[in-house]
Amino acid sequence: MKQPKPHLRTCLGCGREADKRELVRIVRSPEGDVFVDPSSKRSGRGAYVCADEACFEAAVRKDRLGRALKTTVKEDDIERLRHEFEQVATSDARFRSGR
Ligand SMILES: [Zn+2]
Repeated sequence: MKQPKPHLRTCLGCGREADKRELVRIVRSPEGDVFVDPSSKRSGRGAYVCADEACFEAAVRKDRLGRALKTTVKEDDIERLRHEFEQVATSDARFRSGR
């Protein structure tokens, strides 16, 4: 009996590997906009962090996010992303249950 292969992604904050459904996706769209992508379906270059503020902060503080997305994440963008991230981490059923 084989389990379906998990889609493992690495958290930019803590380096933990997890199924991508357990992580919050941040995406850079082809237009160059950076935003949190709760659906994980938007096209663009994606990066993943745990639904944990500490991981988000670690990812932006050392600009791992900018490097992962191959873009410059401006201070304004970080502010907005932090907001979006908190929203997703606290309201998305995936992250509320079982933790
Ligand atoms: Zn993490």
